[in-house]
Amino acid sequence: MMRQYELVDRVRKYNPHANEDLLNRAYVYAMKAHGAQLRASGDLYFSHPLEVAAILTDMKVDDATIVAAVLHDTIEDTASTKDEIDEVFGSEIGSLVDGLTKLKKLDLVSKQAEQAENFRKLLLAVADDVRVLLVKLADRLHNMRTLQFVPPEKRARVAQETLDIYAPLAGRMGMQWMRGELENLAFRTLNPEAAATIEARLASLRTKNEKLIAGIEGELSQALSKNGIEAQARGREKSPYSIFRKMEQKSIAFEQLSDIFGFRVVVPSTQDCYRVLGIVHTKWPTVPGRFKDYISTPKQNDYRSIHTTVVGPGMQRVELQIRSADMQDIAENGIAAHALYKDDVSGDAARLTRESLAYQWLKRTVELLAEGDSPEEFLEHTKLEMFHDQVFCFTPKGRLIALPSGATPIDFAYAVHTQLGNGAVGVKINGRIAPLLSELHNGDEVDIARAEGQSPPAAWESLVVTGKARAAIRRATREASRLQYAGLGRQIVARAFERAGKALSEDKLKGALPRLARQNVEDMLAGVGRGEIFSGDVVRAVHPEFREERKPPLKSAKGESGWFGLKKAASLVFRFPGASPGAASSAIPIRGLGGDLPVRFAPNGGAVPGDRIVGILNPGEGITIYPIQSPALMAFEDQPERWLDVRWDLEHGREELFPVQIVVNALNEPGALGAIATVIGEAGANISHVEFVTKSPDFRDIILDIQVADLKHLTSILAQLKARSVVSRVERVNG
Ligand code: MN
Repeated sequence: MMRQYELVDRVRKYNPHANEDLLNRAYVYAMKAHGAQLRASGDLYFSHPLEVAAILTDMKVDDATIVAAVLHDTIEDTASTKDEIDEVFGSEIGSLVDGLTKLKKLDLVSKQAEQAENFRKLLLAVADDVRVLLVKLADRLHNMRTLQFVPPEKRARVAQETLDIYAPLAGRMGMQWMRGELENLAFRTLNPEAAATIEARLASLRTKNEKLIAGIEGELSQALSKNGIEAQARGREKSPYSIFRKMEQKSIAFEQLSDIFGFRVVVPSTQDCYRVLGIVHTKWPTVPGRFKDYISTPKQNDYRSIHTTVVGPGMQRVELQIRSADMQDIAENGIAAHALYKDDVSGDAARLTRESLAYQWLKRTVELLAEGDSPEEFLEHTKLEMFHDQVFCFTPKGRLIALPSGATPIDFAYAVHTQLGNGAVGVKINGRIAPLLSELHNGDEVDIARAEGQSPPAAWESLVVTGKARAAIRRATREASRLQYAGLGRQIVARAFERAGKALSEDKLKGALPRLARQNVEDMLAGVGRGEIFSGDVVRAVHPEFREERKPPLKSAKGESGWFGLKKAASLVFRFPGASPGAASSAIPIRGLGGDLPVRFAPNGGAVPGDRIVGILNPGEGITIYPIQSPALMAFEDQPERWLDVRWDLEHGREELFPVQIVVNALNEPGALGAIATVIGEAGANISHVEFVTKSPDFRDIILDIQVADLKHLTSILAQLKARSVVSRVERVNG
């Protein structure tokens, strides 16, 4: 066990100003507090905090961090209290130890729910002071180094947690040596066979390549010293775990790994790095695409180095890292390498810099979490419950989307892209169809199904959680309704001009705008669609001389139907182009045909205005109308003489509903049909027939024959049905 003077010596070696008295008091205090407690290994417990402190002296941290390390288990495991530590060592050290005590609870829990809370504490502690995390990592490292003394069932859990949380955290903080060691220790515990195999193969490869590596080292060093650069070129090898991960990720064999060995040149200054690069590139051909300058563009964790690969001595591919001693220190020790942690800077300035550094690190970490751009590092391995009040979900491509808790797939869709949100018609969560308004959970993979020309139901606005989604839905519904009114208005105006025998053009409509007190044509047409402007007034605004014969008011105009834009809905007319060229079209109204061919809609699926339609002549019976995309039309493909070109001819004045068949896949639970019927009824549509097909214990198909005003009406009903929690899927039949 480390003696008192040894600890002081270790600190004084890098910090001549170290507070010896403070270190001595901490040593004695912890020794007394832990007393005769033993570790699983049979050693005195006190040896553990000392080893943790020793790890931190290698990282050259400040006195307070060393003292906190020595005291880190006292509050939790002994009779000491925070108050006492505050009193004896001051509040700075007191709060560091307190933070560590909170984090210690992490080691004792295994349940997800408890972990979520603790990981949040972990991050809060980091926000408070990065030094807490440094001690925590050193603590975990020592525990991993002595893991063999712990019962096997606990071993695997600790190792997995190390791999999931602590190793990536060390890497994110730039402490690559610690990350590597934590990973390899965890790897050996979790996958001993693979670890042993890779270690054995590395060892044999090392022996085999000994001369080659020494040769390359020699030749590199020689080339550099010839140019007046005193630098050591050292061979280095990949760690067993990183080899394993590469083999796993790329599913390749050990033999296929090309970059197991590399070389590192450490030089005094940044300028020297580029000189070395010049020498190396002059002497040996480079391998294209392998050059990276992380000096001019450092990595997010402050890593700086030049990477290049050349075809070196003996035609060997040689991977080179070129960096200064400072860069090397940062690459290995990361956040701990910053001089800010050393005591030669003192007082408020040091604390401020320290805090700003801690803050920067935290900010970057949070940004990384939010962006999800870090495929193999922090995100993937970090338990996402870290932020309790947020929920983290993934796109099918693995992009991370952070949302407030309680968010729905609709929020998710809008967070990805406004267009995706507007077009959302369905969702798969973790591969399973789910309601668009279900609550998302951490780690969910969310796959949004999208349809063109869709607009979100206005009702969503009150059901989503994020402001972005809410604003976008409000915009989209306003726009959709405006377009809908304008489209309807355009039909009405066109019809009015046709009746008046006047030609219609956009320019004419523009000219009429001032008379109608409207800003633009779209706006004016929407006004007509809403019933604010009478179509005859539009005709007269363009042709002031025009006198219209007023028709008697229509009986069926009975006000609000609940479906916007169609309160003065259409009487329907089919227009059959004449058989001979040039002949006038003959309009055949569906109702009151009076002796002409009877017209009916496709028995399975129906057809509604907005559909492109085709008529099929049934000799002796009449005409059946199909949507052009109906699969039922295939039956008539070889009988072109039966196909009739028809189109809708809507006229404003009469309310009409048209048949269509839909199939709703819904939860097999009481109230499901009621909820569906309510949606349809409230939308102003009728239900004429219902049939059930049970496909699984949980879900059933409900086949509904309904009557709607037109395609937009139908689309909206389908979207509203999809928004119901009992509904998993809605489809139109043969439409
Ligand atoms: Mn400990």
